[in-house]
Amino acid sequence: MPHNTLLITGGSNGIGAACARLGAAQGRDVILTYHSDEAAARAVATDIEAAGQTAQVVQCDVAEPTSIEALFAGINPATPIDLINNAGIVAPTASINDLDAERLTRIFAINVVGAILVAKHAVAHMRAAPAKGHIVNISSAAARLGSANLYIDYAASKGAIDTFTKGLADELAPEGIRVNAIRPGLILTDIHTKGGEPDRAKRLGGTVPIGRPGSAEEVAEAVLWLLSDAASYVTGAHLDVSGGR
Ligand code: NAP
Repeated sequence: MPHNTLLITGGSNGIGAACARLGAAQGRDVILTYHSDEAAARAVATDIEAAGQTAQVVQCDVAEPTSIEALFAGINPATPIDLINNAGIVAPTASINDLDAERLTRIFAINVVGAILVAKHAVAHMRAAPAKGHIVNISSAAARLGSANLYIDYAASKGAIDTFTKGLADELAPEGIRVNAIRPGLILTDIHTKGGEPDRAKRLGGTVPIGRPGSAEEVAEAVLWLLSDAASYVTGAHLDVSGGR
C-alpha cells in the first residue's frame, strides 16, 4: 500500500527535519513548513528529492490561524496525509517571577493553540481524503518533569499537548485515525540555542540514565514508527524518547 504524504510543521530544522529525511528514505512524499528559516527548509527539500520523493515547502506561522488556513488550502484534497505536529518553541530560562503575559501568550499560541488548530485542519483533511491518516504530536519530557526554574510555562504547554493527545485519540479512534504523542528528552537541536542555553543538551547529557543526549534522528525513528501500520494498536499513547530520563 502506498504511504501517506507526511505533513510536518517546523520541518526546516531539528526533529522535524530529521522526520522529513527519514520519511523520504522510507518512501514518503513530504510537505514541510518553516517559520523563519527558508534556506534550511529548502535544504531539507533537496534531500527529500534526492531520495526520490516530492517535497512541498510552505511558510507557516502556527501562531497565526490564517497562516494555518493558508497551509491547508494549499494541500491537494486528494492527497492522504499523516501529520507530525512538531512546531514548537522554548523561551529563555526563567522562574515564576520572570513570567509575564506576553511570554506566556506567545508560548501557548505556538505550542498549544497552534498545535490544536493544525490538528483540527488535518482531521478535516483526513476525513475528506481518499485514505485515513494518523497524527503524532511532539510533546516533551518536560510535561512529566515540570522543568522547575527552567521553563515551567513550556512544560505546562507540553502537558496540555499530552492531555489533548489523549482526548483527540479517543475522539478519533472510531474513525481509524490514531493520535499519539512523543515526549523527547534532551535532544541535540538548535532549540536550546534559541532558548538561550546552547550547550544544555550536551551539558546535561551525563545526567540521563543512558548517559548522553539524544539525536533528532533517534526521535524521528519513534515518530515514523507510530505513524506506520506496525503501530496499528497504539493510540492515545505518550512515548518517552528520553534515554530513561
Ligand atoms: P528547533 O530545531 O528549534 O525546530 C523548531 C521548528 O519549529 C523549526 O522548524 C521552526 O521553524 C519551527 N517553528 C518555530 N516557531 C514556529 C512558528 N511560530 N510557527 C511554525 N513553525 C515554527 O527545535 P526542535 O528541538 O527540533 O523542536 C521540535 C519540537 O520538539 C518542539 O515542539 C519542541 O518543543 C520539541 N522538543 C524538543 C526537545 C529538544 O531537546 N530538542 C525536547 C523535547 C521536546 P524555523 O526554524 O523555520 O523558524
